[in-house]
Amino acid sequence: MAANSGRHFLQIPGPTNVPDSVLRAMAQPTIDHRGPDFAELAQDVLRRVRPVFGTDRPVVIYPSSGTGAWEAALVNTLSPGDRVLAFETGHFATLWRDMAEGLGLVVDFVPGDWRRGVDPAVVAERLAADEQHGIAAVMVVHNETSTGVTSRVPEIRAAIDEANHPALLLVDTISSLGSIDYRHDEWGVDVTVSCSQKGLMLPPGLGFNAISEKALTAAEGARLPKSYWNWTPILEANERSFFPYTPPTNLLYGLREALSLLEAEGLPNVFARHDRHAEATRAAVRAWGLEVLCADEREHSSSLTAVRLGEEHDANKVREVILDRFDMSLGAGLGKLTGRVFRIGHLGDFNDLTLAGTLAGVQMGLELSGVPIDPNGLQAALEVLRG
Ligand code: PLP
Repeated sequence: MAANSGRHFLQIPGPTNVPDSVLRAMAQPTIDHRGPDFAELAQDVLRRVRPVFGTDRPVVIYPSSGTGAWEAALVNTLSPGDRVLAFETGHFATLWRDMAEGLGLVVDFVPGDWRRGVDPAVVAERLAADEQHGIAAVMVVHNETSTGVTSRVPEIRAAIDEANHPALLLVDTISSLGSIDYRHDEWGVDVTVSCSQKGLMLPPGLGFNAISEKALTAAEGARLPKSYWNWTPILEANERSFFPYTPPTNLLYGLREALSLLEAEGLPNVFARHDRHAEATRAAVRAWGLEVLCADEREHSSSLTAVRLGEEHDANKVREVILDRFDMSLGAGLGKLTGRVFRIGHLGDFNDLTLAGTLAGVQMGLELSGVPIDPNGLQAALEVLRG
């Protein structure tokens, strides 16, 4: 029977738990989006969101999900028939590939086993072979939310530079922004795609594009049809601290508060906290005698952990037991991982005891589901947390 007292544990890898102060910040009257108070709000969030992306340049904010921000990155920089290089790192990389094809791009999709990130050596190889520079962009998902595997963006950038190739670098940071170290400017990313409902601790509804100088130049010649997603009128209106359409005012109030929380903790501390919680989670998984899906030590995600179960156990059944008995939601296996993994989100508004409670629930749920585990898993995590 589901516990119906106390708080629900929302431990999916996004949407994440929204802090009370963010909820309160959003519970304000919606104001005139052409008036002076709105201009002040817009100016403030448009400026303060930049450091979270590691950029000094403009960040476009859309009233959209992450999928909209994906589309914006493609339609603003590319033309029909352009070739792009993408990598099958998991479910979301595959969906982004599908979108690119749907928009009329030609995708070179490098197959993968959903346990590793983008191999920088393959990037170097593919681009070196493209002597005519036909590849217009490289698409990378920084943190594959379906697998808990990150890609090493600085090494990918170095591979593009090594091949002396002009392709744009487009990076999805939907489940890494505000959780895992990320640097748009320093790493030479051209468009960074993100959204509100994960590390930014907001409800769903805001999409983001951080844009390099090179991407803006590419936008001048990009011929994919666009209207709502077009950066130009948005950047022009943002210059005057307004939007070219009715903005999501209350989400922007929430964003202002979420930025204050991140600033107060300090981004390096936020990243270190996520790293530590991920390490404690992996310690539990290994001590239980189960396997972390990520196969490369350099590529573990700090925002979520995907746990593999043997063929004889259905991960969705385990999730159902945990929801029913302990009122905790865990992430399902997506695409070809359906039933094979469950995903523990440990990102956003999160602390040591949230993690301890989460892992206690997972351990009890595994035991109740008849998955044979060593009960020392939780203890192993607590030892990491105790330090
Ligand atoms: N990319 C990644 C890595 C994601 O995790 C998600 C959603 O979870 C998306 C893209 C799609 O974002 P949305 O569901 O907000 O459209």
